[in-house]
Amino acid sequence: MGEIWNVPEIFGSDVFNEAVMQQRLSPEVYRAWKNSISTGKALELPVANEIAEAMKVWAIEHGATHFTHWFQPMTGITAEKHDSFIEPTGDGKVIMAFSGKELVQGESDASSFPSGGLRATFEARGYTAWDPTAFAFVKDGSLYIPTCFFSYTGAALDKKTPLLRSIDEISREAIRILRLFGDQETQRIISCVGAEQEYFLLPRDLYAQREDLRLTGRTLFGAPAPKGQEMGDHYYGTIRTRVSSFMKDLDEQLWRLGVLSKTKHNEVAPCQHEMAPIYTDVNTACDNNQLIMEIMKKCAAKHNLVCLLHEKPFAGVNGSGKHNNWSLSTDTGRNLFSPGKTPRQNAQFLVFLAAFLKGVDEYQDFLRSTVAFAGNDHRLGANEAPPAIISIFLGDELTAVVDSIINGTNYTDPEKSLMRIGVDVLPAIPKDTTDRNRTSPLAFTGNKFEFRMLGSSQSIAGPNIALNTIMAEELGKFADILESAPDFHAALQKLVCDTFTEHQRIIFNGNGYSSEWMLEAANRGLSNYPASNTSLISYDDPKNIDLVTRRGIFSREEFHARYQIHLATYAKTIRIEARTMVDMIRKQILPAVYAYTSALAKGVAAKQTLGLPHKAETDLLQRLGRSADRLYETCEALNSHIAFSPEGALEQANYCHDVLMRDMKHARKDADLLEQLTDKSYWPYPTYSDLLFY
Ligand code: ADP
Ligand code: MG
Repeated sequence: MGEIWNVPEIFGSDVFNEAVMQQRLSPEVYRAWKNSISTGKALELPVANEIAEAMKVWAIEHGATHFTHWFQPMTGITAEKHDSFIEPTGDGKVIMAFSGKELVQGESDASSFPSGGLRATFEARGYTAWDPTAFAFVKDGSLYIPTCFFSYTGAALDKKTPLLRSIDEISREAIRILRLFGDQETQRIISCVGAEQEYFLLPRDLYAQREDLRLTGRTLFGAPAPKGQEMGDHYYGTIRTRVSSFMKDLDEQLWRLGVLSKTKHNEVAPCQHEMAPIYTDVNTACDNNQLIMEIMKKCAAKHNLVCLLHEKPFAGVNGSGKHNNWSLSTDTGRNLFSPGKTPRQNAQFLVFLAAFLKGVDEYQDFLRSTVAFAGNDHRLGANEAPPAIISIFLGDELTAVVDSIINGTNYTDPEKSLMRIGVDVLPAIPKDTTDRNRTSPLAFTGNKFEFRMLGSSQSIAGPNIALNTIMAEELGKFADILESAPDFHAALQKLVCDTFTEHQRIIFNGNGYSSEWMLEAANRGLSNYPASNTSLISYDDPKNIDLVTRRGIFSREEFHARYQIHLATYAKTIRIEARTMVDMIRKQILPAVYAYTSALAKGVAAKQTLGLPHKAETDLLQRLGRSADRLYETCEALNSHIAFSPEGALEQANYCHDVLMRDMKHARKDADLLEQLTDKSYWPYPTYSDLLFY
């Protein structure tokens, strides 16, 4: 405490970044590396050898003894296997060695990672390959090398590989559009993301007393505390000392790793907080978000806290999400979603806007499925997070522009002739509209789109793969039309106008939480998948399979594997929760109620013999008895339903949703009632008021 940090000095100090490379590599090797990034070509072995040597020397200076190929399997979190640098010299001593081959490719036993059928059991090996577009770093005594993870046959077993493919694809198609608008300089389009991360912090000792939190990351039981978030006194409130020392520590570690941690504040729910980094290219943002989640957990432990990344740790209290701010930028730093000042810039902006509206409208089910996780089902549509229906908020100004193009009227003056794209100047679109609509799943916020449906614990790879891919698809189709048009301006006007007209149903600026919107959205034909098991079916839709395979993002098998994995993970998550529930009911809740009721009953018997009034206790005994009986019955039913397991991943997921979750809901109702009726000294675990108002 109290020490002064030189932030610019510590920032990125544990990263083997471009500056370090420039300093430590020979000019030829540095150039070769830069070149391989822009062309995507593999590095020659002598080049890899020199980079490996420089990395090793640097890493050892930074305290590393090991290296690890760091990868992102389809579990949604990261994996690592550490090898030390030691190599025996034959005289009982060792040297520290690291070769280009070890840097570039690794082999890992992949049998315990989900493969969704992509890897036959006899071929359990998986391979990792260095991603030279992401920087290596030192953490906990190891050199971390970001890698892709794939099978013997070359099928992607991870989340990074398809993300990198989608990054190339959007760049390629967006550049075609830029060329049509006369831009010959831009070489690369960068898809940029700033992911705001929400989380809860709880005292470690209280957390340890709850089996549900330990095993499932959320409370499966818990009556509401007498106080909730209704006072709004936590949102942006002063940060308590223990939490602020956690945050300080977190910032330091993240800065060292080159993560642009920028904003921190208290969130709506008690004990809930948020951290937002400054946006970067999406590949880095994705790696960084994994680091953020991991370091949050480790850092919390150091401060005797526990960081919960679950989407819905507490019923009746806001859950946690991740806002994915997404935009496209040229390599010269020009934002393609900025309305711009000249007619030409505006015209280009309208093409990108039209492509986005069309892509989201056509692939709304695909986009929805990228946020379909058991945990996230508890918050989407629960009037605290966006509904499960995808729509786009444009704000009044931009919607008026779109309307005027559709109706052939002038934006500022309805009497005047139509708004001519590429000739007229768009009105200034305020960057921060005052009526920021918090209920929209996908909001235009001045120069970027904020996708707000992501769950707090999920990898941001999936949603960004989808955003990049649908955008690439639509821009590509637009480019096909415009490149071959005899009259560019006429074609442009027609294309933008037709696209807005056909896809305006996806625009919605109203209250996404309202029941009218559910009806209205259904009338508009927008898809609505309230739960993951139904949403995930979109992985099986020929339209979506066609999109991802034609765009080279996933092979048919890779896409199908993800479908199977998501279904299986969903079912497993619910099964673990169901078993935990049974365990807690049988071993904790019912025994506590029995103990309390038997004490009460003894008291009643004693009072009876003395002729004293005992109505209160008798009534209570009745109520406790009825609830306990019901809970016992539900618990036994749940337990026998757990034993059944239908064939097929989809059937399994549906069964978990329809049967197990129904039982769990009933069980919780009685358990929470019992909690409210039972003497606190008998209750086996900390309650919501203990946990949230410590
Ligand atoms: P909020 O009011 O939702 O916190 P901010 O404007 O502070 O919104 O930004 C939230 C996130 O969006 C931050 O991570 C920020 O870096 C990111 N962001 C800002 N501009 C862009 C952009 N052009 N592209 C992608 N992300 C951006
Ligand atoms: Mg936000």
